[in-house]
Amino acid sequence: MTIILIGIVVVIVIVIIILLKKDTDNTYISVLGRSSWFLLHSISEKYSENPSYQEQELMRSFIISFAKFYPCKKCSINFQKYIKNNPPNVNSNIELQKWFYDAHNDVNIRLGKPIYKLH
Ligand SMILES: Cc1cc2nc3c(=O)[nH]c(=O)nc-3n(C[C@H](O)[C@H](O)[C@H](O)COP(=O)(O)OP(=O)(O)OC[C@H]3O[C@@H](n4cnc5c(N)ncnc54)[C@H](O)[C@@H]3O)c2cc1C
Repeated sequence: MTIILIGIVVVIVIVIIILLKKDTDNTYISVLGRSSWFLLHSISEKYSENPSYQEQELMRSFIISFAKFYPCKKCSINFQKYIKNNPPNVNSNIELQKWFYDAHNDVNIRLGKPIYKLH
């Protein structure tokens, strides 16, 4: 009887630890995501209207590296897939802004969040 009770307590403690870890992971992904989108949208807003070839290549490399090293594994995998299917449009400021809006919307759709339009 005592062993069964101890077993039940151990299982309850393990479930609580798993739930707390999941909650912490979700909070981390949200805080990281909000600040990262702020950075990415801000970068695209300041991008040149008429970028040189070198600027375009640097921006393309930045986006690819950002996706590769993004510190949320599933987000990184999803973003890399998105980039593969939708290569970054680095031709101009407005096109890059639009590309980031669409990339952000792709995540919004997956998470059941509202869609945003670039005005
Ligand atoms: C590159 C990247 C990939 C991600 N992939 C995943 C993933 O695969 N799975 C996952 O669970 N989470 C992912 N995230 C995190 C996720 O996108 C959100 O950041 C997180 O869920 C917090 O959402 P939020 O509701 O606070 O608003 P966020 O989506 O972080 O948005 C912040 C603010 O940006 C504005 N905004 C929203 N949509 C747009 C848009 N389309 N264009 C411009 N502005 C907009 C709104 O004002 C919003 O309040 C990813 C984040 C990044 C940066």
